[in-house]
Amino acid sequence: MNKPVEPVTDVFGSNVFNDTVMRERLPKDVYRSLKRTIEGNEPLDHATADVIANAMKDWAVEKGAAHFCHWFQPMTGSTAEKHDSFISPTAQGGTIMEFSGKELCQGEPDASSFPSGGLRATFEARGYTAWDCTSPVFVKEDGDNITLYIPSAFCSYIGHALDKKTPLLRSMDALNKQAMRVLRALGNTTSNRVTATLGPEQEYFLIDRSFYEKRLDLILTGRTLFGAPSPRGQEMDDHYFGSLHERVASFMHALNVELWRLGVSAKTQHNEVSPAQYELAPVFATVNVATDHNQLTMETMRKIAARHGFVCLLHEKPFAGVNGSGKHNNWSMVTDDGINLLEPGQTPHEDMVFLVMLCAVVKAVDKYAKLLRASVANSGNEHRLGANEAPPAIVSVFLGDQLSDIFGQLAAGGAKSSKKGGELKLGVSTLAPLPKDCTDRNRTSPFAFTGNRFEFRMVGSTQSTAGPMFVLNTIVADVLNDIADELEKAPNVKTAAQKVLKQIATEHRKIIFNGDNYTEDWVDEAKRRGLPNIQSTVCSLETIMDKENVAAFKKHGVLTEAELRARTEILLEAYGMSINIEAMTMLNMAKRQILPACIEYSSVLGSAVGAVSSAGVEAGPQRELLEDVCGLLATMKKDISQLEKAAAEAKKLTDTTKRAGLYRDKVIPAMQALRATADELETMVDADLWPIPTYAEMLFMK
Ligand code: ADP
Ligand code: MG
Repeated sequence: MNKPVEPVTDVFGSNVFNDTVMRERLPKDVYRSLKRTIEGNEPLDHATADVIANAMKDWAVEKGAAHFCHWFQPMTGSTAEKHDSFISPTAQGGTIMEFSGKELCQGEPDASSFPSGGLRATFEARGYTAWDCTSPVFVKEDGDNITLYIPSAFCSYIGHALDKKTPLLRSMDALNKQAMRVLRALGNTTSNRVTATLGPEQEYFLIDRSFYEKRLDLILTGRTLFGAPSPRGQEMDDHYFGSLHERVASFMHALNVELWRLGVSAKTQHNEVSPAQYELAPVFATVNVATDHNQLTMETMRKIAARHGFVCLLHEKPFAGVNGSGKHNNWSMVTDDGINLLEPGQTPHEDMVFLVMLCAVVKAVDKYAKLLRASVANSGNEHRLGANEAPPAIVSVFLGDQLSDIFGQLAAGGAKSSKKGGELKLGVSTLAPLPKDCTDRNRTSPFAFTGNRFEFRMVGSTQSTAGPMFVLNTIVADVLNDIADELEKAPNVKTAAQKVLKQIATEHRKIIFNGDNYTEDWVDEAKRRGLPNIQSTVCSLETIMDKENVAAFKKHGVLTEAELRARTEILLEAYGMSINIEAMTMLNMAKRQILPACIEYSSVLGSAVGAVSSAGVEAGPQRELLEDVCGLLATMKKDISQLEKAAAEAKKLTDTTKRAGLYRDKVIPAMQALRATADELETMVDADLWPIPTYAEMLFMK
């Protein structure tokens, strides 16, 4: 294929009302005023909003848009949008295209059908969306429909946050406030704002659409509920970073172009560990914009996959027995004058700001380990955390050699030196020596320092990054707040800071672990250290309402107790509902597809036994196989009844927590039993009769 290629620099951001477009299209004073609003310094007045709205509309209409929408992120974890056209009929029977400042700044969708976790009754329908001017407006093309998208927050009539963006923005403010206090106390006079940054690496699977269409489990739940292992899995380690299959490469190209148009800086792409698994990582952005972009990325992956005859599976565990998918959240803090607060530099032991920020994160992760764990708890991630492929459910921090050494020095009273990286000689005269980092990487750690940022690896591939990130921002803000209190009142800041660092390095040493997180030894060791290991989603979600969490969210204005309770309720409910959908789907497939196929096979075998015997030949093997199949059929029949019973029992319970508990304790084991029987049957039944595509087909055929 020789297609004309548009320069990427022209494509990038071409559908975004970005700073360049704003400069071009807005009067100077309006542009300046909007910039002040974006920087958090000034609310927007009506007249200015009108001018901005009009400019946005003209720009969007030139791109073919006839509609606009407030694009928000309800607590379902996905996005929502309601489109309105710009048309405004004239008295003469024609129409003009209009868009007011009020329409830009505020929307009023009916909120009654979004989860509120009891924050409002269904009849209290009014909800508001509010333009988030810190995330750029863009135009999105879906088929022939072109719409102006306005990233927005979503709240109830009385102002409760009903979405994922509002607490994220609030947490960014909290972090800014506390980090600035610490910076000022440590003598920084140049920075005016601290922003959390995020670069989320997104893992996903691609399978051929024809297989997907034959699997109700994939269609309804996003993962396979049945399926014997493929004779070949990922044991050869030959997929990771392997050369790209041409069809996949074309998909990636189209995906990149579409994302670049939307201003999403898709940067890295490669094959992942499991067959049919891939990854995309963008260049990091502010945590708010990166979260919006990650939503767009997931949506665009699905859209482009469909165009290429693929289906993109974002589930945390689409296939048993091979790796699942995560979303590594690379996170740091940067000042408005460009200082990455987690950049160690050449001599980190001398950099007080770096040391304080680093220790604050370590303390926050230790103090709020359970909350951080809960921020990634969902039914899909339950298959990942603790299975030997993803970080365990135990939260720990990897610092690496250099920083662990400094951490040790801090505990002993003060850091005097930093280990150096050096050079790596490869023993080949034509290969130049490589500069060697002072610290190795650790792929098994749930929360790893990776050079100039932390990488939170427990996040699930389907999850909005907003949840884990507003938790991280809040807990770090909380620790920075305590540190700022100490530093601000101290007569000698340096001595006070040393004391704080010593205290953290002593009291929170237990959260540091540089070894292999996948081993049983670590599970035992973590237990000895008193670190929580909460494997179950339900148990993890139950810790959210612990009083220190409620207090921290309240203190920093991120979530009220009522808002936090509502979220917990929604997550518990979602857990039960997801498992219920999986159970119902399994029953449907087992009863209407697998059982009939096995019955047919048994009748084929029965006829064979009859035919062979009546020909006067001993039908031993046929009979044996028939007995095995019939034995498993009987087991499967029982498994089905068990699962039906368990699911009915769970569904009856009205208490959300108890119901979620029953799904975990009774329904999931019944699902596992049914799957085990069906998977065994799959290995015996005639391939031509087996009604659903196999693992081998789905994972290896492109
Ligand atoms: P890895 O080698 O860990 O797989 P990738 O290159 O796939 O790394 O992804 C690393 C991610 O970390 C990218 O999204 C990158 O932009 C992001 N990143 C780099 N620096 C920062 C930072 N200061 N803050 C947040 N994210 C960052
Ligand atoms: Mg990567």
